[in-house]
Amino acid sequence: MALLINTHSKMTLAPKINLSEVNLESLFSLINDWNSFINFLQAVKLLSASETCECGREMKMKPANIDDRYTWMCGNDNCKATLSIRKGSVFYGSELSINDTVQFIYLWTFEMASNKYIGKDIRALSDRLDIVCDWRIFFRDVCMRHFLCHPQVIGGDGCSVEIDESLVSHKEDDTELEFWVLGGYEQATKSGFLVIMPTKDTDTLLQLIQRFVRPGTTVIFDCWPAYYEQGTEGFDYLRDSHKYNFVDETTGASTTSTEITWHETKKWNKLDCWPNRQIIDSLAEFMWRQKFAKNLLITIIHQIAEMYPV
Ligand SMILES: [Zn+2]
Repeated sequence: MALLINTHSKMTLAPKINLSEVNLESLFSLINDWNSFINFLQAVKLLSASETCECGREMKMKPANIDDRYTWMCGNDNCKATLSIRKGSVFYGSELSINDTVQFIYLWTFEMASNKYIGKDIRALSDRLDIVCDWRIFFRDVCMRHFLCHPQVIGGDGCSVEIDESLVSHKEDDTELEFWVLGGYEQATKSGFLVIMPTKDTDTLLQLIQRFVRPGTTVIFDCWPAYYEQGTEGFDYLRDSHKYNFVDETTGASTTSTEITWHETKKWNKLDCWPNRQIIDSLAEFMWRQKFAKNLLITIIHQIAEMYPV
């Protein structure tokens, strides 16, 4: 999946950019040529390529003495309304410059986005670690969104699937939403699913397991769900009728010994601002990196563009 972007425009002649071959050097040289950089962001749909003024006339992108260096301006001489080139995009409302943000997207993609690295090498980002932290949360939301939108059935006879559930908070239009997410991961195939739990009870848990984990699977819980103690009939039924085997990883309860692997992800990539975020967040990012390992940059750009259609 190579994505070739031609950044040619009226303003400048720029080389074609193969996103699968972008490295830090080519990214910096792209950013240094602002016209090409803006054209590139339009080509990958992170910035809008056209705008219409409220008066109905088409707007033109004009140089401006602002951080973004360009603004949309109405072509109607009697109107001359202006509009931020960030309008509707993922950059809108962020205090980070567009170029710093794109640099950070690149660094996050290739796991160079720790505060330690940024603090050492990238001044503009190291001065705003609070914003950087918000962006990290955003990237994990992108990963989670992908899996919630594309749940996958995993497991099967002789397979092990690790299961966890956690409360996820998500900010949307200044409103903090909270919902429970169930996650499952199969190390052998490096595949997994995330689904929203409409209600947090045994029936819902078991229904989701039946839907997304094939019969015959050893289902490993990090620890028994709290409500497990309220009744084990549902678990017993699935064990007897569908040959699931349930294991509590913490206590080792169950008869089957399995290699526990997802546990590793819990220590995985502990970023500076994550101590309070739940395991599902890191599972989402972990699974996302596994799934798109060959096209990480293309994928993150594509998925961000999908979330913020311009
Ligand atoms: Zn106008």
